[in-house]
Amino acid sequence: MANGEFVKHGMTQERFDFLMQPFEGDESVILTADELKDGWHWCDEWDGLLIHKDDIEFKHCKCEFMNKFRKENI
Ligand SMILES: [Zn+2]
Repeated sequence: MANGEFVKHGMTQERFDFLMQPFEGDESVILTADELKDGWHWCDEWDGLLIHKDDIEFKHCKCEFMNKFRKENI
């Protein structure tokens, strides 16, 4: 994979790195409505890690507000 072409679930590496920077008290670093709708969230279960509903980490996510994204395929 070439550097600079990283796109994760529709989010670029640059955007991801920007969101993952320390933002204590900085309200400007927030997810957009589109990103939330797409399945991104700060996961309490992962100590605030930014994860996407298609990430393997999401299997361990217990955030109730993310229930709408959970697939119930058995
Ligand atoms: Zn979560």
